[in-house]
Amino acid sequence: MNLFDLSGKVALVTGGNGGIGLAMAQGMASCGASIVIAGRNEEKAGPALASLRELGTRCAFLTGDVTKKAACVKLVADTVAEFGRLDILVNNAGTAVRKMPQDYTEEEWHLVMDTNLTSAFLCSQAAYAPMKAQGGGKMINIGSMMSLFGAPYATPYASSKGGIVQMTRAMATAWAKDNIQVNAVLPGWIDTDLTKRARREVPGLHERVENRTPAGRWGSPPDMAGIAAFLASPASDFVTGTAIPVDGGYSIGM
Ligand code: NDP
Repeated sequence: MNLFDLSGKVALVTGGNGGIGLAMAQGMASCGASIVIAGRNEEKAGPALASLRELGTRCAFLTGDVTKKAACVKLVADTVAEFGRLDILVNNAGTAVRKMPQDYTEEEWHLVMDTNLTSAFLCSQAAYAPMKAQGGGKMINIGSMMSLFGAPYATPYASSKGGIVQMTRAMATAWAKDNIQVNAVLPGWIDTDLTKRARREVPGLHERVENRTPAGRWGSPPDMAGIAAFLASPASDFVTGTAIPVDGGYSIGM
């Protein structure tokens, strides 16, 4: 038995058209999974799909704004309609608005909470029935170092990512008997569009991260591929409710 074999499995990755989501999709594709990537930006989807096809996987892009319940329900329904099943859901779509807590508008709070946390709740809720009917599944939620730490310019982001960990634990306990494993991944600082923007806005951030990370470097998206393959595969069938840092040691260093 190949513990990491995902042949015949179908994965839906929100925000899978770039950055960490695409790298996780590639990790699962390289183990044999078919992949559906979801996002709003169709331009990014072309190269993302091409990179997945190079791995020999069957794949598709679905457009959807995961802050809307109807879109989450439709993403899951369309995946099942097109690919016949849904085995793995990666709740990866995310955004950030950098401000001091006193300066956020209510809309900005809701944008970050809805994109990062409510979307994961809604997609998981939609995915539950098909996974249960199939006899099991895997849900992988993307947290952050902000699931563990606070920061002055990240109140809604840290709230949403802390919520991801508790939502993961709650759903893991609810659905363990249905053979659905729910886990969170907490990436360290990874070089993506999201953090490129932070680096532009925060002088000295690049060096601060390098110095604070025991591995002495930023992560790159491919650093996230292995954890996706593990948490999606039979190798993790008795692993549920965890929040696993993938951070070059950032969360355990001084
Ligand atoms: P990117 O900005 O590259 O990716 C974010 C993805 O989310 C995009 O593909 C985007 O697709 C999608 N997305 C955003 N809003 C929506 C929406 N409303 N509906 C559908 N899709 C949406 O950033 P990362 O790859 O860095 O981030 C991926 C995840 O990893 C996020 O949850 C982020 O918080 C988390 N993370 C990132 C870290 C890092 O250092 N980079 C560290 C810790 C956590 P589109 O534009 O097409 O809508």
